[in-house]
Amino acid sequence: MNEAVRLRARTRLLAVGLLVAMSVLAIAAFTLGNLTPAPDAEGSAADPAWTTPPDQSSAPASQESSETAIAVEVPDLLGKTLAEAHVLLEATGVTLQVEEDPSLVADAVGDARIVERQEPVGSTVVNAGDVVRVTVAAVPGTSTQREHTGAVVVIDPGHQAHGDSSHEPIGPGSDRTKPKVTGGTTGVVTRMPEYEIVLQISMNLKARLESAGVTVVMTRMTNDVNISNSERAGIANDAQAELFIRVHADGSTDTSQAGVSMLYPGKNDWTEPISGPSHRAAELIHDAVVASTGGSSRGLVERNDLSGFNWSTVPTVLVECGFLTNPVEDRLLSSPHYQDKLAEGMATGIIAYLNE
Ligand SMILES: [Zn+2]
Repeated sequence: MNEAVRLRARTRLLAVGLLVAMSVLAIAAFTLGNLTPAPDAEGSAADPAWTTPPDQSSAPASQESSETAIAVEVPDLLGKTLAEAHVLLEATGVTLQVEEDPSLVADAVGDARIVERQEPVGSTVVNAGDVVRVTVAAVPGTSTQREHTGAVVVIDPGHQAHGDSSHEPIGPGSDRTKPKVTGGTTGVVTRMPEYEIVLQISMNLKARLESAGVTVVMTRMTNDVNISNSERAGIANDAQAELFIRVHADGSTDTSQAGVSMLYPGKNDWTEPISGPSHRAAELIHDAVVASTGGSSRGLVERNDLSGFNWSTVPTVLVECGFLTNPVEDRLLSSPHYQDKLAEGMATGIIAYLNE
């Protein structure tokens, strides 16, 4: 072997050795890189899109969380104002993500932005905490939304988390007394308390009336309060409300009892001045609620024994939205879709009353 051949052989050996060494280093670097990604990398170990293929990333995540997640029904938001959409989703625990339609937002006035697309669509079942994406657009000619400015409506979501069994007179100066406020009834299947359901419906109604320009005063916006029925009427009197609407759900020992009732004050010494207009409001709201829900009706009922009526000096009605003691109506009353239909009917009836 001459000198030149020996040099070529040694160079070849060195090259092979270098290749092996580089491969080992590369493998080591790759492995380390996967185990400990830099914290400021584009993806992180916590990002499922980085560790698993994008088309499989959502399925395992939702399976993992399904043990603790609460399934909820997405309400239909199409055509609703942004304010209404917020209220509806708040009640279900779903997060709202809003995109504005760039071609239509120029003239948006206040809350007069309407949902024109939503994903996922209404009635889809998702987990509480999931996101609903909506696209909103301005409504042309939104000045009509303000035609009821100045009208005041007081909404009283019936009951409260804990009743107060101490007594108050059933009307000013009366010897007859009744408990100040009770805890209400409970869903026979859902176990949902009346005070919670009627608050959800009332908040929906509030958003609807406000988007029509009505000033709304709520007697309560949480369940943990202590406000007697006469005090609730006092809130409506102080506000000089055009209407004091009380929102309740019914209960009976007979689980087959069902349907909507509209209660209004009769012509007793206290309520004589408000009985007529209250009856008219009851008619209009009753008809609109029956139309919007397609539900059965028990009609209008005159009452002289309700403290919340007898203490009221402004027209007042009480909507019994259905029976929580009836398994079918109990489920309906917890459904965001049905609650929305109830609120829609009440708002339509109230606005018709304010227009007269
Ligand atoms: Zn009630």
